[in-house]
This record gives sequence, structure tokens and C-alpha cells, in this order.
Amino acid sequence: MRWPSRWTSTAPDAFGEEGHPFAPNTHDHTNHACRIGNMLAADLSLFDAALAGSVLGVDENTDLLDGIPEEYIGPMIRYISCHEVGHCLGLQHNMAASTIRKLSDVHSGEWGDEATSGSVMDYIAANINYELGAEQGPYATPTVGPYDRWAIAYGYGPESELETLLKRSSEPDLIYLSQMEMNSGSDPRNMTWDNGANNLNFCESRLGLVNDLRSKLVSDIVDDGESWALVRRRYQNMLGTQVQCLSIASRWIGGTFSNNDFKSEGGRSAIEDVPADQQRRALNLIIDNSFDEDAFGLSPDLVRHFGKEYWWDSAGTSEMMADPSFTVHDMIGGVQATAMTFVMNPGTLRRVYDNEYRTAGQKDAFTLAELVNTVSESIWKGADKGAISSFDRNLQREHTDRLITLALMDRSTSPAMRTISNLAVLELENIRDTAKANSSGDQYTAAHLASIVRRIDKTLDAAYVVNR
Ligand SMILES: [Zn+2]
Repeated sequence: MRWPSRWTSTAPDAFGEEGHPFAPNTHDHTNHACRIGNMLAADLSLFDAALAGSVLGVDENTDLLDGIPEEYIGPMIRYISCHEVGHCLGLQHNMAASTIRKLSDVHSGEWGDEATSGSVMDYIAANINYELGAEQGPYATPTVGPYDRWAIAYGYGPESELETLLKRSSEPDLIYLSQMEMNSGSDPRNMTWDNGANNLNFCESRLGLVNDLRSKLVSDIVDDGESWALVRRRYQNMLGTQVQCLSIASRWIGGTFSNNDFKSEGGRSAIEDVPADQQRRALNLIIDNSFDEDAFGLSPDLVRHFGKEYWWDSAGTSEMMADPSFTVHDMIGGVQATAMTFVMNPGTLRRVYDNEYRTAGQKDAFTLAELVNTVSESIWKGADKGAISSFDRNLQREHTDRLITLALMDRSTSPAMRTISNLAVLELENIRDTAKANSSGDQYTAAHLASIVRRIDKTLDAAYVVNR
């Protein structure tokens, strides 16, 4: 095989003196292309916290390696080794492969040494059983998967078998979706750091685990004699897991399944609808786990235990520079803004709207209007009466700003965006009515809502001028 020259040369080129960032470097054997280790380290930290919190039912007499059970770390090393050797043999990532088996089967207590994933070339989250099944199954896929064997047989087997092998490409266990389509694509199976046939089950399990552990951070997970800085680090790591789950769930909204089948008797079409109930489930998962201030497991007592340490090294610098008093509003506001981007970005809104062309007439189809209304109701419910909390004020301001951006989009750029822009204007008018109805007398609430009304008034004037 002849690789493109930029992958094999470290000579100065369009990428500057250092060459392409993924180019092999004869002086540095660090892997620049495959990032499998970083997130597995985050999962290891979560698993370690789960052990300390005694929420997994791990046998206390199990063999430990640096405090981690051998049954966890051994298969994980085997999986990573297989993955990297797969690259050496020419395999690309296949981020949909972890969807071939149900987690409830893997954790049924009857799983043997079969692969849990179609391929080791996926970035597969550690398979931690939290309310998924009767008994912990393998933490990492025990062996190479059916896709790996099939792809290697095609690349290295006799030419006489190629035709036969190609005819198997639509078998469910051989699912392959390109990493090139992962960032911009719309298939909810094509995601990293998830696991199982429906990754919403995975997300619910992980979010449940995180919530359980947060409530035990101060009491159980940090031992006597350990630094309170561990509470801050553990919490932030779990917040990262929470955002990871929100990101995975968001791919279902406006999603489509992509099939690689060629035309054949009984073959699947290239584009397949994602069921409406799964899109609603994903949207509600995001709302419940980000827009609700109780979704972050915070309490004044927990925040009082967010200690920090001062280590002048690469791992410690960000903590060293962090404000000693935890910046609770910025941290939670940042996560909520991220979640808002997941569901209200123009790309997702456009997909939901375009999908309506295919699903029109179907009973109970998921629509753009439903998405916009559901988000608005979750954020503004109760805002017409009573004092509004500091977290909810942040969230409402963020939501208003997103709608303002959508309302001011130049309608000539995209026909789909005209509908989205019109809906945003309607939502802003509804929010203005809600804001005007509140007379709680709370000074923060009054200032917040007055600002909202002012911004919406100015926006609607501007939108008329920009979009007329
Ligand atoms: Zn890789």
C-alpha cells in the first residue's frame, strides 16, 4: 500500500517545521493519532471512585494491581494492545462497532469469552455494570470482534475469497461507519466512549453511577488522611462524564442511521429513520441531566470541601491556577451552555426539520416545533411567578441568547433556516410575555427579567430590519 506522502514524511511542508501533526517521527515514539488512552484514564478514575464508594459489588478478596482489580486492568491492556496492533495492520477506527450487543446480555451473568464489540477499533467505554444486569460482565471486550476478523480476511486472505467476503458487508455484526463521518455525521451509533446496542442505556447507567458517587464524595470516597483536593478532582472528572453522556445523547436528536448496503434483494436503504421515541428519550435525558439545577449533585456542604493543591507540573497547573473558592456558577453555567449547544445549534435544528420531509404523515413524528417548544417549556416553566434561582437565571439568559442568534440569522442563507428563524421569533415573543407576567418582588429576578424583555424588544426590531 502506498501511503500519501504527508503521512510518511517529517520534512517541513505546509504544516510547518514540525511536519504534519500525525506524521510518524523517528525521534518520538509517542502515538499522535490514536487517543485511546486519555479517555480510558478518565474511566479508570471513575471506576476507582466507584470502588472507593462500594457501589459496584466488587469482591473484596479480588487480586489488585496498584489498587485496581486484575480483572479490570488485564482485559483493558489486552483491548488497547489489540487496538493498536489493528492500526499496524491497516485498520481504521470503527466507532459504531460497540453497538452489536446489548449491555443487559453482557451483564446477565452468562457471558463467556465472546467479543462484546464488533471490533477492537472502536473507542469503547469501560464496561462498568451499574444497574445494567445481574452480574458484572467483562470490563473490556475479551477478544477481537467479528468485524476485525472479516476486515483482516479481506486485507490479507486469498483473492479467491474476496467476492464472498464482500457479500457479507450488511451483516449486523460487521457494522462499519467511517470516523470521517463521526464529527459531522448524524448516526447516533457512530460515537466514541459509549457502549452497547443503545447507547442511551449506557448514558443512563453512567449518569446514575455519577449521581450515586457524588453523594458519597465527602463521606466515603476520600479517606482519612487524604487531601480535600481529591473531592474537587473527583467531582470535575464526574462532571466530564456527565458532559460526555449529554454529547452522546444529543446525536439521536435529528439523527439518521446510515447503511452501507449496495442494492440487493431485501437490502436496507442508505438512510434509515431514527425512531421518534428515541429522539424524545434523548432530549429528555439532556433536559433532566443539564437544565435542572439538581442534576449536578451540588450542595453548599460539598462545595465547602472542594480543596486544591499547588503542584508546579503539567498535571497540577490548572488546579493551581483555579480560584480557591469553587466558581460554581461559571462551572454549571458552562455545562448548561454546552448542553444548549448540543440541542439548539443550527445544524441539529436543520436536521430535525429536514427529517420531517421523510417522516411527514407518520403518526407521532418528532418535529422541529416539538423540539423548540420542549426546550422552552423546560427552561421557562414557573418563570411567570416567584423568585427565579441563580442557576435558572443563567440558563434562561443563555436560552434567550441562542434564540436571538437564530432570530437574527439572515434568512436568505438557507431555506430551512427561514423556518427556524421564524420559530425563534415566536419563542422570543412568548418568553417576553412570560417575563412581563412575573412580579415576585425579588430584586435579582426583577433585574433579570427586565433585561430579558429589553433584549427581546431590541432583537425583534433588529430581526425585522435584517430579515425583511
Ligand atoms: Zn486508534
